[in-house]
Amino acid sequence: MKEKSPSIQDSLKPIVALCKRRGFIYPGSEIYGGFANTYSFGPYGVELKKNIKDLWWKFFVHGRRNMVGLDGPILLHPKTWAASGHVEGFNDALIDCKACKGRFRCDHLIEDALHKSADGMSLEQMTKEVQQHKIRCPKCGASDFTEARVFNLMFHTHMSKTGGNTDIAYLRPETAQAIFLDFKNVIDTMRVRVPFGIAQIGKAFRNEITPGNFVFRVIEFEQMEIEYFIHENEWKASFEEWLTSMHKWCQLIGLNSARIREKEHPKEQLSHYSKRTVDLTYDFPFGSSELYGLAYRTNFDLSRHAEFSGQSLEYTDPDTKEKFIPHVIEPTFGVERTLLALLCDAYDEEVLENGETRTVLHFAPTIAPVKVAVFPLMKKEPLVEKAEKIFKTLHHIWHAEYDESGAIGKRYRRQDELGTPFCITIDFDTLENDTVTLRDRDSMQQIRVPTNKLIEILSEKLNVGFYENQRITS
Ligand code: ATP
Repeated sequence: MKEKSPSIQDSLKPIVALCKRRGFIYPGSEIYGGFANTYSFGPYGVELKKNIKDLWWKFFVHGRRNMVGLDGPILLHPKTWAASGHVEGFNDALIDCKACKGRFRCDHLIEDALHKSADGMSLEQMTKEVQQHKIRCPKCGASDFTEARVFNLMFHTHMSKTGGNTDIAYLRPETAQAIFLDFKNVIDTMRVRVPFGIAQIGKAFRNEITPGNFVFRVIEFEQMEIEYFIHENEWKASFEEWLTSMHKWCQLIGLNSARIREKEHPKEQLSHYSKRTVDLTYDFPFGSSELYGLAYRTNFDLSRHAEFSGQSLEYTDPDTKEKFIPHVIEPTFGVERTLLALLCDAYDEEVLENGETRTVLHFAPTIAPVKVAVFPLMKKEPLVEKAEKIFKTLHHIWHAEYDESGAIGKRYRRQDELGTPFCITIDFDTLENDTVTLRDRDSMQQIRVPTNKLIEILSEKLNVGFYENQRITS
C-alpha cells in the first residue's frame, strides 16, 4: 500500500472529468446525490472493460493449452469463508478521530504520517505508534484517536425464505474461493491433468474503510483470477513463468513498462495462506500502488475445504498414481485498476502548433472502446449515403461510430478524447475516385486509401500489438 490520502486525488481530476464528460465513468446513483465510492461504467467505460476482459480471456485462457474457465456464484456456502480464513482474518485495523469522527485505516495513517510500513504490526503496536508520534487526523488536524480495532471487510446479507430466522451469507470478497469449491467438479468432468488452471472473471465486494482514488479502491469491483494447480515440486518454476506472463499481459494492453514494478512481500508480512507473493505495482499519479498480485497459496485452500466439507480433494496422477492435494499459484488482476492504469497511461494534453490544446487518450488499438469512426465531410448527399454505406460494412467487424454533426475538426477532437485510433472521412474526392481519408489519432496524419482496401488496412493496423504478443506467449 502506498496510495495516499484523498487530497491527492487532485492529480486524477482531469481524468475523472474526462471520464464523466465522455461517458466512461459516472458517479454512482448521482440523481440521488451520489452513493459514496460506487461508480457506473458508461457506454465507453463498459466497452473498455469488456475489451480488457475479452483480451485477458483470450490471452490467459484460450491462448494456453491447459486452462479452463468457470463462472461461480457470488454467494457461496457460508462455511467457505470460515474454511478460507476470511471470517477470522480478513480484517483491516481501523481507528477513529475522536474530534471529527473521521474513520481511517490505521496502517494507512501510520504509513502516510511516518513513512514506514505498518504491515505485520499488532493492533496494540499500531495504537502505540499513533499515540507516541501524536499523529494528526488528516481531516481536522487533531491528535486524538481511539484505539485501533479490527474491522472485517466482508459484506454480509441474510438468507431467509420466511422473514424469520436468517442465516448470514457473505458477498464474496475474492473470486478465488468459487474456483476451489468446484475443483473436484472440474477434475471429474474435464480432461484436465495437473498442472492446469481454472480462470474466472467476476465481481468481488469489500467493505473498505477508506475507499478512494477514483476506481482504484472501491467497494464493488471485478477480479480476473486464475488458480493454477500444480505439484508442490513445480512451484518455483511455475511462479516465475506466471510472473513473466503477467508482464507480457501488461505489454499486450499497452501499459508503459517503465511504470510497472515488482514488489516482493517480505516473509513476515505474507498472508496466512501464502509462501511467496509478488505484487506488480503501477506508478499512479497518487503513488506507486498494487495493480496485480501473484501468490503461491500452497495447498492451504483445498486442504481447508477438504477438512471443512469432509470431501476428498485429492488428485491422483494418472502416470505415477501419486495421490496429493495440488498446490496453487494464483495470478490475480483487478479490472478497475487495469482500467485506471490504462487511462493514466493514455491521457495526454498536447499543445498543438496553433496553440490549441488537444486532449487525447493514446489507447492501444486492442483496448480502445471505439476502433474506427466514420464521418461524411458534411451532412449532405451523396456524402452521407456513401459514409453510411462504409459505416455499415465496418461496424459488423469492429466497434465503429458514425458521426455527421458539427465541424469535422470537432468530430476528430471528440474521437481523440475517446481514444479512437482511426477516423475515416468521406469527402468530395471519394465521389470521384472511391478513396477516403484515414486519420491516425496519434500522428493526426491523414492518408488516402481506396475504400475497397479499408478492411485489409484496418485489420492490420488494429491487430498489430495483439498478434506480436501472442507469438511471444506460445
Ligand atoms: P490492497 O492491498 O490494495 O488492498 P489487496 O492486496 O487486498 O489490495 P488482493 O486481495 O490481492 O488485493 O486482490 C486482488 C486484486 O484485486 C488486486 O491486485 C487489485 O487489482 C484488485 N482489488 C483489490 N481490492 C480492490 C478494491 N477495493 N477496489 C478495486 N480493486 C481491488
